[in-house]
Amino acid sequence: MVQKQSQCKWYPVCPLKYLYEVGKLDKKWIDNYCMVDWEDCVRYYKEENGIYHPDNMLPNGKIDESL
Ligand code: SF4
Repeated sequence: MVQKQSQCKWYPVCPLKYLYEVGKLDKKWIDNYCMVDWEDCVRYYKEENGIYHPDNMLPNGKIDESL
């Protein structure tokens, strides 16, 4: 049986990883999406489908102007 990968494959290069590491992004996004439900991430979907998305777009698709 193929096990679902625990971490999003884009995490190492995702801008949200960087924003989290510099303390700008709440850990809940990483915990709820990147490490678990990355299939539900809007960024993931857009990345997979070659659709443009700004660096300050959250996993739920909202733009955070403070980022
Ligand atoms: S924000 Fe989305 S695309 Fe980026 S690492 Fe997390 S789950 Fe993957």
